Parts: sequence; C-alpha cells; structure tokens
Amino acid sequence: MKRREFLALLSTQAVAAPQYDLLVRGGRLIDPAQGISAARDIAISGGKVAAIAETIDSATSRTVMDARNMIVTPGLVDVHVHVYDGVAPLGIPADPTCIAKGVTTVLDAGSSGAHTFPGLKKYVIRMVDTRVYALLNISLLGQSTLSTDNPHGELLDLRFVNAAMAIKTIEQNRDVILGLKIRLTGNITGPNDLKALAIAREAADAVKLPLMVHIGGSYSPVPQIVGMLKRGDVITHSFRGGPGGIVDDRFRVLPEVRRAMERGVQLDVGHGAGSFSFETAEKLMAQEITPGTISSDVHQFNVNGPVFDLATTLSKFLHLKMPIEEVIRRATANPARAFAFPAGTGSLKVGTTADLSVFELREGRFEFTDSLQGRRTGDRKLFPVATVKGGSIYGSSWLPVVTG
Ligand SMILES: [Zn+2]
Repeated sequence: MKRREFLALLSTQAVAAPQYDLLVRGGRLIDPAQGISAARDIAISGGKVAAIAETIDSATSRTVMDARNMIVTPGLVDVHVHVYDGVAPLGIPADPTCIAKGVTTVLDAGSSGAHTFPGLKKYVIRMVDTRVYALLNISLLGQSTLSTDNPHGELLDLRFVNAAMAIKTIEQNRDVILGLKIRLTGNITGPNDLKALAIAREAADAVKLPLMVHIGGSYSPVPQIVGMLKRGDVITHSFRGGPGGIVDDRFRVLPEVRRAMERGVQLDVGHGAGSFSFETAEKLMAQEITPGTISSDVHQFNVNGPVFDLATTLSKFLHLKMPIEEVIRRATANPARAFAFPAGTGSLKVGTTADLSVFELREGRFEFTDSLQGRRTGDRKLFPVATVKGGSIYGSSWLPVVTG
C-alpha cells in the first residue's frame, strides 16, 4: 500500500471511530416524560443520553446491547424503600433489590431521623450503587422496631419529635433529603399522632418540602390526618385493606381524601408487608382513584414476598388493567415530579444522565399475592434483565452485549 493510500485509510478509520459508548438497540422505549412508547434505539456517550432515534447504526457505538423484544424505561424510581441496612429495623441492602432489579433511584422513607441520618448518609447513600435519597423521619430516632418483643413505636414519646432538629438536618443535607416522613399507626404514636403530625407539618413548611404520611390503623381518624395535608404531600399505603385506610367500610373513597387529592395531595402505594390489598385497589380504581406513584416499601419482612421488588408491584398494576405506559409513568415521571430529585431523573431526554432499565414483559400465568394473602392470577409480568447507571451496565446483563 502506498503511503498516501495508507494515510487516507487512517483518516477514514479516525472518522469511523465509534461516536457512542453504548447503544441499547431494538427495544420498545417507554418514557412517559417524553410521551414515547415506541421502538427506539438509545445512544449513550460520556454517561449521558446522546441520541434517541428509530434506528441508530451499531457501528457508531463501542458497545451494543441487544434489547429486541424488551421494554426499555428510564431507570425506575421507587419512592418508598427501607435500605438503612444493619441500623434501622426493617433495612435491607439497597443494591440487590434496587439497582440490580432496574431501580436506579430510591427514597429511603423515614428509616432515619435527625439523630441517625448521618449514618445513613455515611454508610449507605455514599457507599451503595443505587442512588439513595431520603425522607427524614420527624422522630429523632428514625423508625423503631415493631415486633411482639417491642410493639413500641418512635412517636410514643413526643420529646423525641423535634422540628428544629429535623429542619437543621434537612438544611445541612438538601442534596439528599427530599422531604419528611411520619408513621401514623396506633402502636407507633399512641394518642400523640396529631401533635406529632403538627410538628412534622411545621418542619415541612419551614423547609418547603413534601411530607409523606404513612396511614393504617391510626389512633385518630384518617379524615383528621388528611385534613392537615397540603399540596405536594403524599399519603403512602393508600391502597391498603382493612380499617384505617382511605375508604369507608363499603370501599368508597372518603370525601376528605377526595378533597385532599383535589388540592394536590398525592397517593402513593407503599405495598409493604401489610399495606396493599387487591380488593381495595380494584374498588378504588373503579372510582377512578389511581395512585400518583407506585412504590414497593420493600424491606426485610416483605423482600421474600409478597413484595420481592418494584417490578413485581408494577406487574400487579398491569393485572389491575392499568396500561403499561401509565404503570411506568408512576415509577419514573411521577416520582420525579413529586420529589426534587436531580433534573433528568425518571426520563431519558437527550443530555440527561443515562440511567435506564430493561425488562422482559413475559406472558404466561403468574400468581400475585397482596399483603392480606389476597391472590390474583395475572397474564403478564415484568422481569428486570439489565440496568444501566450513568451509561455503564450494572453488574451483568441477561441480554447479549457486544463490544467491538
Ligand atoms: Zn415504609
């Protein structure tokens, strides 16, 4: 080869050098924030989404993930988990259940309070691969164990409920604390619930962040609790069964709850070990009451069932006939709107951090169990098959990945 030809070849090769780091090809992208539910290829460069198009040439990327027949979503966001592993009573390790299962971003919902938050930040938020943010428990203690040995909750003594310390902790950690959390169940609060809620209200107003309220078997009636909630606040465990939920004994949504929703209070699922009922969900959805966010409340006592992971909770809503785009919206765009996650969370707009999840939507017969042993047989279930965080494949991918 003549020298001139050789130089020309070198220059063409330079031009043809891959432009992208990773290309996720052939999947069906469901990105409700962008109104996309269609076949799209996604190109990633420098950890950001670089291009989305119907077809992007494989030769333009160093690595190609084959996502044919798969669903691709923005990295899922679970706004109710417990990942203060080893410290808070319900805590589980974040990564095996969250990022490894397609959930790139989570909110630890009140495992820690002002006294125990520094450890959550030091040993969890800064250490794990999942992007962990927190709702701060209004009790300094964070969550207290509830068991037959210790049926005493964190709000039984109001001396541990301190607005000033919560405010200070939040002001010092606004990058990772996105709101407040309070658990209002009789054995957690005793007769203190409305007083504790007023203190949480004061703190939330001072820092201008949402307050997530856990309901179920509260000491005071739910209408009184809900009456203290404002626009942007969140009721979790809203699809629970039994007394103390958001419905009356004939499963009609309480008028106070409807009014709260009209003024911008949002409903969260928070499935948990005791807080999701198919019957309640079916009857609420028949009244056109749907959750704003679908979260798992995954923790030690439900991670091996009935919750398992967020994908399983989402699949239960597919069984409840919610369209898949609306299911994914409630674990991507809606959480991002409800809480002040960093810009771009919950969507794959060009230029945003490339967190994405790939799922196989399998067809067959799948048994789903709620928190009351209620069972339903569904015909579709989402299975996580790959996660990409900041442009890098997390762990291993079940899908073929070719690096050129
Ligand atoms: Zn919880």
